[in-house]
Order: sequence, then structure tokens, then C-alpha cells
Amino acid sequence: MAPPAVIGSQKPNARGSTTAAEQRIGQATSVVMPLLEWGAMGYVTWVLAYLICVQYLISPSEELRLSFNVQPRRSTGIALIVIYAILVLLLLIPWLRLLQLIWSKPDLIPLGNPSREKMDTSTKAFEQYDAFTCDYEGFPLWCDKCHNFKPDRTHHCKELGRCVRRMDHYCPWAGGIIAESTHKFFLQFTFFAALYTAYSWIVVAIFLADRISKVGSRPGTWIGALVVTVLFFVFTFTMTGMTGWNLMINFTSVEGIQRGGIHNIAFLVSRSPQGSSSPPTSSTSTPSKNGPSNSDSEGDWPVLRTVQRSSGRTWVVMQTKPLEHPWYTSLMMGWKDTMGNNPIDWFLPIKQSPCKQRTRRGEFEWGEVVFDMARKYEADNPGARLALLDGVR
Ligand SMILES: [Zn+2]
Repeated sequence: MAPPAVIGSQKPNARGSTTAAEQRIGQATSVVMPLLEWGAMGYVTWVLAYLICVQYLISPSEELRLSFNVQPRRSTGIALIVIYAILVLLLLIPWLRLLQLIWSKPDLIPLGNPSREKMDTSTKAFEQYDAFTCDYEGFPLWCDKCHNFKPDRTHHCKELGRCVRRMDHYCPWAGGIIAESTHKFFLQFTFFAALYTAYSWIVVAIFLADRISKVGSRPGTWIGALVVTVLFFVFTFTMTGMTGWNLMINFTSVEGIQRGGIHNIAFLVSRSPQGSSSPPTSSTSTPSKNGPSNSDSEGDWPVLRTVQRSSGRTWVVMQTKPLEHPWYTSLMMGWKDTMGNNPIDWFLPIKQSPCKQRTRRGEFEWGEVVFDMARKYEADNPGARLALLDGVR
């Protein structure tokens, strides 16, 4: 059986086929799609507000009134237009906030010096943490396209040609990259888009049925608006459900696809084992590039190696088991981290994620899986202390 993939490691030239032309096409799509969607919204507005509300409900033509007994329903027409306008605003405001953030690119990792390789690049930014995800040598994960280390949960985006913090996916429909800072407004965008399209298709469907029964005609423009709004409703409703659920369980779309892989994590050693002035040594077999040793019985949790950095700090590199998610998965924590603590914030497109302070423990809050690894290590190496457990033992 093939060993599980190591999350964040790069196969040589795995994405080497991505060309500048592909990047340009990817980025152009994220400009064209919103323009097409705004065109579709314009069309639906014309059908719903003008053809249905004004021409059919508020002031039906003489022919409709005299020949088909379609009487004016002014208050209904006006109320429907007002609600429609409110829903358009509720959709456009988070969408514009989302685009503003996408264009300001807060989640992109700076490019490194192309002449520098992993060994020549400082790891100082990572060594402030008690633990970070790493490769088999205990280095932070490296991107050979950006020539820089990748903070935890960072992924290289082929459309942008850049590493992106806590990347979820590249969404041409919304207008660009959905990642740490934009995830909240993306969910608000899909939620209000689902609300807007649901309202639109219901109104069009009701008055299409009304017109068929009274007049016996089925205008193609009305049917077109019904088809467009139903299709977008199904799409945005599904996206809202999937995005909301992923936020709750604290998985990005990328992590959902990579589920089943393993993670290497470097833990800062704050005290070596008793009776030892040197760092604790590996308790398992020689690390293999192909994954953990096959002696994966319970209790043989792989400690891959210990490494000492020039700062004098010692790190022990351990590996999760397949299917283990290193970050917390408790339902509301993931949601609140992105959406905010206050339910009002969940709907207002103002406060930006992440909605809580970072800590010294890591780029993101670790899950019980990682704390358990640290506890097991301390139990197996009497006297040893890992910084991650300081204050939580
Ligand atoms: Zn990269």
C-alpha cells in the first residue's frame, strides 16, 4: 500500500507545468465572471422590477386590464421592489468588501530571494512558536516556487503563482482568492446571494403562474429569469452549506481534499530528559522520506528526529497518523475564529478575520491530537518538557 502523503510537501516540479499564460487566464476569469454575474443581476432586475412589478402589477396595460381582467396591484408591486432592492444591497455590500480585500491581497506570503534555497533562509519567524508544521528535517515547509517558507496551513495558489495563508480555494465566481482574511466575507456573499436568488425565483415563479392562468402567455424573458435565478440559487445555497460546515469543523477546502495525509510537526524542547545534558534522541527507526515506519502499532508514535538550530534551541519532530487533523475541530471555535464572537458580526461585512489574537503556541490553535503527541513524548522521555505544554499540563 502506498504510504500516506505528507501534507505541504512538494513533489519536484509537481506544479511546474503552470505557466504564466495559465495564471493570466485564471486571473482574467475572476474579473470576467463577476461582470457576467452583474449582467445577469441587471437582467433579473429588469424582469422582476420592471416587467413584473411595474408593467404587470403596478400599471398593467389597457389590453391586460380590459381583455384579461388583470387589475393593478400597486402596493404588492411596490413592496416587492423595495424588498428586492434591500436584498440587492445586502448582497452587494459583502461582495464589494470581499473584492476590496481580495484586491488588497492581505493573505499572500512575500516572495523569497530566488537565489536563496531553504538552507540559506532564516527560520527565525517560525522559531517564536512552540510548534510548527515541518518537513522531515524539521525545517518549516518550503515552497520552491516562491522561494520562501510556508507558515502552517499555507498553500501555493497556481492562479496567483503565490503562497496564500490558510488558502481555501480560488473562486472566479466571487472574484479571486478565498483564504484567511476573505473567508468570512465569502460566506456572507454566498449566504446573501442564496437569499437574493431564492427571493427572485419565488417572485418570478408566482407571477409567471399568475400570468399563465389569467393571460395564458409565458413570456420568454420571465422564463429566462426563472432559469438563471434557480441555477444560481442551487449553486450559492450549496456553497453556503459547504463553506459554513467547513468553517465550523475548521477545515479549509484544500485540507478537505488532502484529508488522509500526515503532518510532520516540530515541537520546541524546553527541557531535556533527566540525566541527559544532550537533547533526547529519536525513539523510532531512521526517518524515511516515504513516510513513517510500518511498525505503526498503538504506542509507537513516530518521533522522527531531534534537531538543534543555530539559536541553540532544540526541536523534536513528530508525525501525525493518517486522517488526523492537527488543528482544533470543536464546532463553534472554528466558526468564531473566522466569523467573530458576536452573532451581529456574522452578518455584518465589517470586522476582518482572524477574529482572535495569535499566541506563542503556533500560527493556528492546535487540536488535541497535537497536545496528545506532546504528552506522550514527555511520558516516554522522563524529565523532558515541551514548550507547547507549558501552562496546560
Ligand atoms: Zn508558493
